[in-house]
Amino acid sequence: MIEMKNISKVYPKGIQALTNINFKIEKGDFVFLVGPSGAGKSTFLKILLKEEEPTEGTIYVGEQNITKLSTRKIPYLRRTIGVVFQDFRLLPNKTVYENVAFAMQIIEASSKEIRRQVPMILGMVGLSDRAAQYPHQLSGGEKQRVSIARAIVNNPSILIADEPTGNLDPETAWEIMKVLRQINRRGTTVLMATHAKDIVDMMQQRVIALEKGRVVRDQQRGAYGYED
Ligand code: ADP
Ligand code: ADP
Repeated sequence: MIEMKNISKVYPKGIQALTNINFKIEKGDFVFLVGPSGAGKSTFLKILLKEEEPTEGTIYVGEQNITKLSTRKIPYLRRTIGVVFQDFRLLPNKTVYENVAFAMQIIEASSKEIRRQVPMILGMVGLSDRAAQYPHQLSGGEKQRVSIARAIVNNPSILIADEPTGNLDPETAWEIMKVLRQINRRGTTVLMATHAKDIVDMMQQRVIALEKGRVVRDQQRGAYGYED
C-alpha cells in the first residue's frame, strides 16, 4: 500500500533530512510516526504527498511507483490520500457542510453525490447538528472533526494526520483518536505523525521512529519511546 525503498532527501545547502528510509505499510494499517523535532517527519509526509521530491529512492502508493509520476497525475495521487493538520485549515467563510462539500466540488462530484455523501460523513464524525455553523463557532475538537470529515469525504485509501491532536486538550484528543480509529477500522490506512506520548503508548499500534533522518525503530504494538 505504501512502500519506501532507500529514500534519502537532501535539501539545498546539503541539509540531509532523510537517509536511506525503508519500510512497507499494508492496507488497513494504523501507524504512528514519531521522533524529536527535526527528525524528518514533515519531510517524510511531504514526500508521500509529492510536495517534496526525494533525492534518491523509490516510493510506491498502491501499486503505483509515484517517484516517476508526471505532474499531470499528481492531483489523482492526492485524491487517494486525505490529509489532516494540527491547525485544521478550514475555510472560515464556509459552514461545516460547505467546508466538506467543497472537497467534493473540487473533484467535480455531482451535486446529487454531494447531497448524499456530506451528511453521511458528518454523521460519522458526530457533527450532524453542526452542519450550518461556521468554524469560529466550533470548539477545537469539532474543528478537527470537520477537517477529518473533509479529508475522508472522497474515500481516500490513506489518511495522513500531521499532529492532529497538537492543539487539543487530552480529553478532546482522545475523541479525535476514536474517530481516526473508527476510520481505520473501516479499512483506511492511517499514518499519524505525533508528539502525543500518552496516545501512542495507550493505542498499542505500529510505531515508526525517526531520528536524525533515519528509521531507528519500527515496532508492531510499539510505544512512544521518548521522554519529551
Ligand atoms: P514540524 O513537523 O512542523 O517540523 P515539529 O515536529 O517541530 O514541527 O513540531 C510539531 C509540533 O509539536 C509543534 O507544535 C511543536 O511545538 C510540538 N513539539 C515539537 N517538539 C516537541 C517535543 N519535543 N515535545 C512536545 N511537543 C513538541
Ligand atoms: P520534523 O518534522 O521531524 O520536525 P523536518 O522534516 O521538518 O522534521 O526536518 C528535518 C530536517 O530538514 C531538519 O534539519 C530541518 O531543519 C530540515 N528542513 C526541513 N525543511 C527544510 C527546507 N524546506 N529546507 C531546508 N531544510 C529543511
